Amino acid sequence: MTDIQSVIDAERQAVTSLPTRRPDGRIETGTYHQWKDIEDYLQELLVVYPWLSITSIGQTARGRQLWVAKIEINSYCSKPTVWIDCGIHAREWIGPATCIYGLDYLTNGYGCDPYVTNFLNKYNVHIMPVHNPDGYCYSWRYDRLWRKNRNRNPNDTCYGVDLNRNYDDGHWGGGRGAGDPCSNNYPGPTGFSEVETQAVRDYTNELQSTRNLAAFFTIHSYAQQWLYAYGWSGESVPEEPEVSRVAQIGVNAIESVYNTRYRYGSFYNVAYPGFGLSIDWSYSRGVIYSYLLELRDKGEYGFLFPLTQIVPTGEETWAGLMAAVMAI
Ligand SMILES: [Zn+2]
Repeated sequence: MTDIQSVIDAERQAVTSLPTRRPDGRIETGTYHQWKDIEDYLQELLVVYPWLSITSIGQTARGRQLWVAKIEINSYCSKPTVWIDCGIHAREWIGPATCIYGLDYLTNGYGCDPYVTNFLNKYNVHIMPVHNPDGYCYSWRYDRLWRKNRNRNPNDTCYGVDLNRNYDDGHWGGGRGAGDPCSNNYPGPTGFSEVETQAVRDYTNELQSTRNLAAFFTIHSYAQQWLYAYGWSGESVPEEPEVSRVAQIGVNAIESVYNTRYRYGSFYNVAYPGFGLSIDWSYSRGVIYSYLLELRDKGEYGFLFPLTQIVPTGEETWAGLMAAVMAI
């Protein structure tokens, strides 16, 4: 891109000219939604679907609620639970859009679409559409390419911690950005220093002990990669054959929809060394099916991902997520 600001301006123009709801009242999945709009949407779902509930698992550094939508059909039946979070990195707008696509797809499909119905009869699904609402709002208002949260770093003029470097699996704090609050990869002053990562840690730990947490997914963009532990080491996890089997099924399901090709493997080997990742932490607490997805695009559009591709991305991503979960 020779003029990124013009692309940002065009995106803003497109987003503000589109309605946020369809004529039937459902959310418009083919656009990006502001934080307030996402909060409204969750409340709308709550009114329509008795088996869906909304809970705040904590507050951000700036006082926003950390919302999680829980889809639990016949919640008195004990069944495995799947966790999916989007938007841990603020500028990756296709993440929250893909979580919203999934909420719309699952809620509308239950009782109508046999595949969705079967899936939700077997699994509880807990979706956090925006892990980092402070950063997300900042990316809408001030800096479209902001990545971190918006916590104030004491004794420094630079703001924010990279929340996906803040999870502490025993290898927190390595790599680039450590000790530099101005870095995009600043992991924070300590592991789990941030309220946003503390909230997801505590909530999913609770799920693990009470609700059989079968899988943990965290959605990013962009690179077309399906990644698992480790990020901190090039060694394979002991369960690598099984973890990669499920990843391959997910990747194949994605490809079957629109021919989008993903690579899969460990974060370290397929992407680059990364410390303090949520998948490494989640793996280390015993959830072997902990996956990080880097969605569509390999740099043609980057974070300024066109609206016309939001729905196709949602379709293929949820095909992959559900196929993988069903293979566990
Ligand atoms: Zn990311």
